[in-house]
Order: sequence, then structure tokens, then C-alpha cells
Amino acid sequence: MKKKDLSMFVRFWGVRGSVPTPGINFIKYGGNTACVELRCGNTIMIFDAGTGIRMLGESLAKEFFDKPIQVHLFISHTHWDHIQGFPFFALAYNKNATINFYGGHSVSTLEKLILGQMDKEYFPVSLFELSSKINFIELSQNAFTINDIVIYYTHLFHPGLSLGFRVEYDDRVFVYASDNEVLNDPELGEYNLKNIGTLIKNADILVTDCQYTPDEYKSRIGWGHSSIEIVAQVASRFGVKHLVTYHHDPSHTDDDIAKTIRKVRKLSLPIKITAAQEGTTLYLSKKY
Ligand SMILES: [Zn+2]
Ligand SMILES: [Zn+2]
Repeated sequence: MKKKDLSMFVRFWGVRGSVPTPGINFIKYGGNTACVELRCGNTIMIFDAGTGIRMLGESLAKEFFDKPIQVHLFISHTHWDHIQGFPFFALAYNKNATINFYGGHSVSTLEKLILGQMDKEYFPVSLFELSSKINFIELSQNAFTINDIVIYYTHLFHPGLSLGFRVEYDDRVFVYASDNEVLNDPELGEYNLKNIGTLIKNADILVTDCQYTPDEYKSRIGWGHSSIEIVAQVASRFGVKHLVTYHHDPSHTDDDIAKTIRKVRKLSLPIKITAAQEGTTLYLSKKY
């Protein structure tokens, strides 16, 4: 029997959009806000620092204890649900840890924005008091590498913009695109579609904003989030193998999410569709 390839995997620590949702109706999919871990060999990448990053920090602390550790933390944008967990990230307080932040595209620098979130008015510990080594990398080129990984990014359609990331490693492609609105508009739509298409083409796993049901989307056009049905159609058109719906609306209970997934599967598109679920891991298997 062929051994399972464990060298690339994605783990979900926070899958909720906008605001955390504790409570018995949110147990299956989880209530923490945006945070996804991606391992490519020994390289640890993290996408967004919503409240899910707290549990990720605990898990990494157990795994590495006092050994040196480096993580690459990509911030799609600085809306609260994507940064609010960082002050509670255990690694930030670990002198053996290096945290490389990647982001930018805003009127301010990423460093200034994270610094602001930890201003004394909001949080008792400032960024300068943290024991870890923190580097800020303002992105300026659309493609760059970390070790043997190629990363491409683009701007997404969202108020104040956000960044979508495509990660290519050892013949496998992972895409993280939260928050984003895939438009139905015929004029803007063409550019939007080309941009998204380049980002997601032939991805093995696409984790992306599917906040609204088709009915909800009708009254929320231009809010910067997508209808699951439109995303599923676009993803299958661009050859995505597995669509993982993400940034679940805070009003959507476990039952609502399961129902929406069942409905979109009935479209019989040539694509696997599942909902992102906190605490779960997906492996990207290598093609032979
Ligand atoms: Zn968000
Ligand atoms: Zn946002």
C-alpha cells in the first residue's frame, strides 16, 4: 500500500467571518474568526490572525516547546476578524520565536496597523514589549519565494481591499482568498473574473469567502463577500479540485451551513465542495 504523503497540509483554526460566534449552534463548524495554518515541508505559514490563532499558538507551543521556531504570517487585510487574535498568540511571547508578517496594500503600513491594535488604549502589552522577534514584510512584488515555495498574490474585491494568496509547493497548489466578492456585474465582472481566475487556476485546494447564500447575496451586492453558488461555478470553471467554503456568516448555524453545502452540491459541478471546519486538517496529495 502506498504511504500517505504528509508533507503539505492545511489546518483550520478559525473559519468564521466578521465576529466570533460561541454557542451550541456553532459547535460543528466552529466560532473562531479567520486563521488557517499551512505546512509545506518544514515551513509554517499562517493565513490571518483572527481569534483562531490563539489555539494555533498553543498547539505550536506544545509541538516546539523551547526549540527555535519561525512562522510566516500572511494578513489578508486588517479588518478585526483577521487580526484580533494576534495579541493572544503564544508565539508572540516566546523569545525563541520569529514571526514574519506579510501584508500591505492599505493607506498605512501593516506594521503601523498591528502596532495600533496593541496600543495601550486597546491592549495592556505593546508590540515592542513582546519577546519574539517580529519582522514586517510589506509586499510589493506580485510573486516571491520562501524556501522552496512560490507565493503569488493579488488584490481582491472587498471594502478597503484584501489580498488573496496562491502557494505553489512541490507540484501542489493551495489558494487562500478571504474576503472577496466574486461579482456578477458584466463590466467590472470581466476584470474581476480574470483576476480571480489567475489566482485560483487548477488549485488543489481553494479556501475562500462563501459568506452568503444565493438569496442573501441578492440584497448584499457590493458588500465585499460572495454567494456560495457563484464561487462554486467560477471555481469549477477554473479547474479547482476542492473548494472549501470559508468565512462563514456569523448568523449561519451548523444546520444552515450543512444545508447550504447540500444545496450547492446539487448543482453537480465537477468540483469537490466542503465547508471549512475548525480543528480539521486536509492533506494535499502529490501527483505521481
Ligand atoms: Zn473578514
Ligand atoms: Zn474584511
